[in-house]
Amino acid sequence: QAKKQGKKCWVEYQNGMELKLKRISHLSQNLALADKNEEFTLHYQPIVDVSSGRIVSFEALLRWSNEELGEVGPEEVIRIAEETGLIYELEDWVLDRAICDLVKLKELVTPDVTMAVNLSGLHLLDINLAERILQILSKNSLKPHDLTIELTETVLVCNINSESSPTRTLIESGIKVSIDDFGTGYSSLAYLHTIPASTVKIDKSFLDSTKYNTTTLECIYRLVTTLNMDCLIEGIETQQQADLLRSIGYNLQQGYFHGKPKPIEYYHKSKI
Ligand code: C2E
Ligand code: MG
Ligand code: MG
Ligand code: MG
Repeated sequence: QAKKQGKKCWVEYQNGMELKLKRISHLSQNLALADKNEEFTLHYQPIVDVSSGRIVSFEALLRWSNEELGEVGPEEVIRIAEETGLIYELEDWVLDRAICDLVKLKELVTPDVTMAVNLSGLHLLDINLAERILQILSKNSLKPHDLTIELTETVLVCNINSESSPTRTLIESGIKVSIDDFGTGYSSLAYLHTIPASTVKIDKSFLDSTKYNTTTLECIYRLVTTLNMDCLIEGIETQQQADLLRSIGYNLQQGYFHGKPKPIEYYHKSKI
């Protein structure tokens, strides 16, 4: 009986692996072929300053819709793009498109609005990254501080130590860096002051009241602002959360409550 059971598990495992490998190979082939301008889009989610009620920034979030595969979530796309080396081409497209769209969003929303783009840690191995980004910015008559690059804390901690790290070059050129998903990686408080980021984005998991309480959120807020960084919290879904966080001091907020990620056309239609 046990042997039979074992065999069944093995077969299931094998089938599962096969499916997974098939999906990866299918996705990477499609990714290589995908016409970036047709299959990929960026959705922009507002980041709001609740003390003024104004949109201060947008985060660009990748969407891939493929005829055969349907909608593929960004985390899967990014992982496969990293594994296949297609990430550079893909995220160069993301940077280009997001910066181009920022010009339009400045007209539609307010001239002060900025853009945040997520980048894979692999880019930090590219010593020409900052220069390339500066070129795209200047081509669009934008300034370095119009752009924030979001990097996860794990990536940043691994990268910051060498004197000539691309992260430092980015920051020295005036492009802002923010620490994404703070609290899900090393969460190492000891490292936080060594990362010259301008903003810390607190992960939405901290809003799960079964795991964390108000005191935790208060401490994080105080820590980040004491280190002279902006403190932004993501994943706000309700008025109640927004109010509680505001009372602590979290004026920079992002989440479905303030606005879901939407294609640029949405901002043309809705007069903000
Ligand atoms: P992230 O950078 O932490 O982005 C925030 C994610 O939370 C987004 O998921 C967003 O849609 C979602 N979100 C925003 N507000 C709420 C809310 O109120 N409730 C909940 N439950 N979720 C909310 P999305 O768009 O699926 O992106 C997932 C992740 O994929 C991103 O997490 C980011 O790490 C990655 N990603 C997306 N686009 C890119 C890209 O162009 N390059 C790279 N390297 N990564 C990207
Ligand atoms: Mg992000
Ligand atoms: Mg995040
Ligand atoms: Mg994330």
